[in-house]
Amino acid sequence: MSDNCVFCRIAAGAIPATIVAQNELALAFRDLYPQAPVHVLVIPRRHVASLAVADRGEEVAAVLALAAAVARAEGLEDKGYRVVTNVGDHGGQTVHHWHLHVLGGREMTWPPG
Ligand code: AMP
Ligand code: ZN
Repeated sequence: MSDNCVFCRIAAGAIPATIVAQNELALAFRDLYPQAPVHVLVIPRRHVASLAVADRGEEVAAVLALAAAVARAEGLEDKGYRVVTNVGDHGGQTVHHWHLHVLGGREMTWPPG
């Protein structure tokens, strides 16, 4: 737990979030500033700064599996959805605790901005 990390604080229950799913190693909650009708963030419970340093296979698998489970539960499977992880400055990462964005409920554009 990193005291100055907002997602660690959410994982610890120290600040509120709308949690939609969880497993032993990962947690999913709604993005505060949704960019699509469904916008859920999936994080490892443990502080991991980004995908670049996500080196525990079991944890990576738990985060990915929870993202797929959330998409299923949110009814996104039929039409499809997007899973994104931003890494570092050029990737547009603003919160330095690894997270997957699960986006759906509208058609996504490509290439991303
Ligand atoms: P990124 O820019 O990829 O690092 O994504 C960070 C995401 O975290 C953004 O989509 C923010 O809207 C979201 N966010 C920041 N603070 C919170 C919070 N307290 N609860 C939920 N989502 C948050
Ligand atoms: Zn953290």
